[in-house]
Amino acid sequence: MAAELDVLVVGAGFAGLYMVHRARGLGLSVEAVDAADGVGGTWWWNRYPGARCDVPSLEYSYGFDDDLQQEWEWTERYATQPEILSYLEHVADRFDLRSHLTLGTRIDRLSFDEDELRWRIHLDDGSARSARFVVMATGCLSAANMPDIAGADDFVGRTFHTGRWPHDPVDFAGRRVAVIGTGSSGVQSIPIIAEQAAHLTVFQRTPAYAVPAHNGPLHPADVAEIKADYRNWRAVARDSRPGYGGHVPRPELSALSVSDEERTAAYDTRWEHGGLLFLGAFNDLLLNTEANDTAADYLRARIAEVVDDPATAEMLSPDTIVGCKRLCLDSGYFATYNRDDVDLVDISASPIDRIEAGGIVVDGRLHEVDDIVFATGFDAMTGALDRIHIEGRDGRTLRDAWAAGPTTLLGLQVAGFPNLFTVTGPGSPSVLTNMVSSIEHHVDWISDVLASMTTQGRTTVEATEAAQQEWVAWVNAVADLTLFPSCNSWYLGANVPGKPRVFMPLPGFPDYVAHCTTVAESDYPGFTFG
Ligand code: FAD
Ligand code: NAP
Repeated sequence: MAAELDVLVVGAGFAGLYMVHRARGLGLSVEAVDAADGVGGTWWWNRYPGARCDVPSLEYSYGFDDDLQQEWEWTERYATQPEILSYLEHVADRFDLRSHLTLGTRIDRLSFDEDELRWRIHLDDGSARSARFVVMATGCLSAANMPDIAGADDFVGRTFHTGRWPHDPVDFAGRRVAVIGTGSSGVQSIPIIAEQAAHLTVFQRTPAYAVPAHNGPLHPADVAEIKADYRNWRAVARDSRPGYGGHVPRPELSALSVSDEERTAAYDTRWEHGGLLFLGAFNDLLLNTEANDTAADYLRARIAEVVDDPATAEMLSPDTIVGCKRLCLDSGYFATYNRDDVDLVDISASPIDRIEAGGIVVDGRLHEVDDIVFATGFDAMTGALDRIHIEGRDGRTLRDAWAAGPTTLLGLQVAGFPNLFTVTGPGSPSVLTNMVSSIEHHVDWISDVLASMTTQGRTTVEATEAAQQEWVAWVNAVADLTLFPSCNSWYLGANVPGKPRVFMPLPGFPDYVAHCTTVAESDYPGFTFG
């Protein structure tokens, strides 16, 4: 017989761990299942050289427990993958979550039993669970995107995907290495792989914009200042557009309203400070193409300053809207192309023909390599959900419901799938924010629904079709006011062949949070309860 639970959580990353903590705090029986052999989600899987966060560590962390945030000591402005992983392991131990975790086990299939009003869940170890509620904490960037390149199986060397990195150390010494992909994972790993390998060839389909990380050790006095006022810091962060950096003044000016000198000075200040808040220099960089062009020109000029060979600098210079793909942080990335043992191959016009036993063929030319690193990203936001057979009312699957693109109410529920929640789902700000802020907000909101249902003796909660349609139209309308949909990003699903082209996240974190609060305070209009 299947174990009976109140709440089954899929995933044990930032979202899954916090969901277990909150559900248990409500007195509910809860279990989280993760395919990984350990906790940490993203930080368990992505062990490639150079992996670290790009939101400052002091903010890319939980704020729900004051003792935790006071006690934990981050060592660098942007923490490394091992440090974030040990933080999440510490959280699992400190809050005694491990007895609620089943690790190294995938959930393949779940279906809603309309008679019993329970979810039936099937695990790949052959066991089953039955739960009143299911929370999908499956991650927006957890389903690796492995391109289908002809001949890949013939390659005799080693292959790696950044999001499925081995746990044993990988030694590139003396080897000729290829990296395919120049998004955040490529930009972080390329400088380090270049230092280790005998030769590195980077295959670039779209060049990336990057601003300096200026990473370094945290100064005790700065940390003490934040910790003295940590709760307020978190509150201000929740009220900011990206869900962090709330203490940085909000931009009030258009990039087009100031002189060239003032504009350059504003960009210089952000550049010297480093970090993704570069895009906050003006209030219209993601709203107005002309304004965005000024940032693009600035960033291209910076690339030309660093990269010695003008032809290489040109190849590395994007011609797209800055920020419509996630901006990257540079720790020696562009300078790496000045090395004699690093080559850049432009595959924008002529994609990889095939992979052969000895390397990668582009335009009929074989680039001989011993190892291939796929820094090719993820089937983002929907990929992890799409890989599970999720059957709601009337036997309808989520895959069918989302065949033309994901539809949700608030990014939290899908019509036809009662008592199933998605954390940072499509239709919520999610990947456009500091994700820990979004995760904590979603888990708290879900927990409040569960608490109110218990109090009121309600058994099911479900988004209505009408409210969902209205929400999807709203998300599209907001996205269309911005420049986000203007390039082939993973936000649009454009990186995965055949995926519907729909802008999935909702720009505007603080407004969204305020709206979710109003919904909760008004007894959840748009949701029906059984
Ligand atoms: P995840 O951490 O992705 O965890 C989801 C878990 O669900 C995984 O462990 C997976 O194994 C499990 N799972 C999925 N499907 C199943 C199934 N069917 N059965 C069992 N288990 C399943 N965000 C930021 O805001 N700032 C950053 O600096 C930042 N840096 C990042 C760096 C990298 C390299 C990557 C890839 C992402 C980064 N992100 C960043 C996004 C990051 O994914 C989130 O910040 C956060 O870690 C997500 O937590 P999560 O718990 O929602 O999902
Ligand atoms: P990504 O941003 O999607 O980048 C993937 C790269 O691979 C792109 O350059 C893409 O080119 C290329 N690519 C994909 N398929 C290809 C193919 N068939 N042939 C050739 N090139 C191909 O993925 P990512 O770098 O893993 O990052 C994903 C997200 O995770 C980030 O945007 C960020 O949110 C998060 N992340 C954060 C950090 C951090 O700094 N903290 C680090 C890593 C990841 P196109 O652009 O042309 O598609």
